[in-house]
Amino acid sequence: MRDPDAFLASAAELLGERGFTRDPDLMAPWLTDWRGRYAGNALAMASPASTEEVSAIVRLCARHRVPIVPQGGNSGMSGGATPDDDGDALLLSLRRMNAIREVNADSRQTVCEAGVILQNLHDAAADKQMRFPLTLGGKGSATIGGLIATNAGGTQVLRHGTMRTQVLGLEAVLADGSVFDALTPLKKDNRGFDLKQLLIGSEGTLGIVTAATLRLLPEIGERAVLWAGLRSIGDARRLLLHCEARAGNHLEGFEVIPAHCLTAVLDHLPDARRPLASEHAWHALIELVAEEGVTDGLSELAESILSEAFEAGTIEDATIAASETQAEQFWLLRDSISPAERAIGPAMQHDISVPVARMADFVEQAVPEVEARFPGTSAVAFGHLGDGNVHFHVLAPPNVVRGEWEDGEGKAISAFVHDLVTRWGGSISAEHGIGQMKRDELGRLGDPVALAMMRSIKQALDPQGLLNPGKLVPLAPEACSN
Ligand SMILES: Cc1cc2nc3c(=O)[nH]c(=O)nc-3n(C[C@H](O)[C@H](O)[C@H](O)COP(=O)(O)OP(=O)(O)OC[C@H]3O[C@@H](n4cnc5c(N)ncnc54)[C@H](O)[C@@H]3O)c2cc1C
Repeated sequence: MRDPDAFLASAAELLGERGFTRDPDLMAPWLTDWRGRYAGNALAMASPASTEEVSAIVRLCARHRVPIVPQGGNSGMSGGATPDDDGDALLLSLRRMNAIREVNADSRQTVCEAGVILQNLHDAAADKQMRFPLTLGGKGSATIGGLIATNAGGTQVLRHGTMRTQVLGLEAVLADGSVFDALTPLKKDNRGFDLKQLLIGSEGTLGIVTAATLRLLPEIGERAVLWAGLRSIGDARRLLLHCEARAGNHLEGFEVIPAHCLTAVLDHLPDARRPLASEHAWHALIELVAEEGVTDGLSELAESILSEAFEAGTIEDATIAASETQAEQFWLLRDSISPAERAIGPAMQHDISVPVARMADFVEQAVPEVEARFPGTSAVAFGHLGDGNVHFHVLAPPNVVRGEWEDGEGKAISAFVHDLVTRWGGSISAEHGIGQMKRDELGRLGDPVALAMMRSIKQALDPQGLLNPGKLVPLAPEACSN
């Protein structure tokens, strides 16, 4: 950095009192990640209120060579929004850019600023009898900018795809402060590279997302939420295939939950109740939906799917939510797994994918393999079976010291799991991104050609390396050996 005092004075003047702070108490909540794994420092926190202000502050950073860490709701799972310890980066919060500029039911589109919280978009869409077809457990804090930057997934990917599919247009500020304006969606546009897609999933390393045009769908007319108890994850896979064959396009979500996770959630939420009276090794949470006007027979379809599965011996027991309230209660159980687990104690989390058809076999083999290799640990896998993506968490043995265990045995566990996933042809990050958590692992296991392409793109768009340094893009091999 050239002259910190001059930079700070100019930034304060540019953004005013509401848009700039160095107050340690105001900054503290934003300097640790959601999981409490990473903590850092920052020179200051900037909270611009418009694209023009983002552009001006980024230009100022470029002039003074100040690193920038973009941040939305700080709900990310890979430490991507947490600055390092040095304290020389500017934390750039997009949370004040929270306007929903337009919800248009005719064009089925919405234009949102980066800081709009996902739940607020759901509510605004519902006011116009529309819906935004992406949801996840962190919806009360995750922002549109963060969801785009991480190409978030969630529980409706099975039918509607990841964030990448929802983004029709994008506006972003690049490392030199220039504004990339591709907010107006075009159904057909073959003017070369799709640059907005390059920015999606780039975790703040190529540009700062300031606004987006997103896809909306008409609100659903009816839904059926099913909870099934199963003997094994293999049976869950068979049930998924059965649901796909019978429900077709009505199948919106298919999540798996092992007994261990359900127990953790029931301990964590005192008012929550077990959906089935009996206990089961595995559970499947299934959502079927029908759009307004095509709702005939959804409950009958749900009932026949379950009775056929029962007759085939695929499920041990099942129920269908009797009301919207009960449906929400079922989903709350699923969405509370991460907070419940966080309360239990240390765990190494792995957000992994393998080809959908192989996931059940992967879990059946990987769980005992990990537990045998690291005695005292318990491995659990839960989540988006229909997408070939589970959260594979390895819980620490009792009485380990939080912090020490993660940096010691925890690291060896992650390397072991990532090696396994790579051998099965999968990905070490299915939906949470790379951040600082998996950057070295991506460098170790990634395809060298793909990594070289990533480094070239980063160098071209951010030659000073100021955008979210230390995140996502692995160091070049020569830099590692220095
Ligand atoms: C309980 C819980 C459940 C979750 N479940 C899921 C799930 O099922 N699926 C899933 O995919 N994720 C899930 N997540 C993770 C999380 O919600 C996503 O990673 C989310 O996309 C991050 O949004 P955010 O606004 O909080 O971003 P942050 O955490 O603030 O930032 C995440 C990354 O994006 C960058 N970034 C943020 N805003 C911008 C911007 N405007 N421009 C450029 N870069 C930016 C940051 O630098 C960082 O690298 C869950 C989180 C929680 C807490």
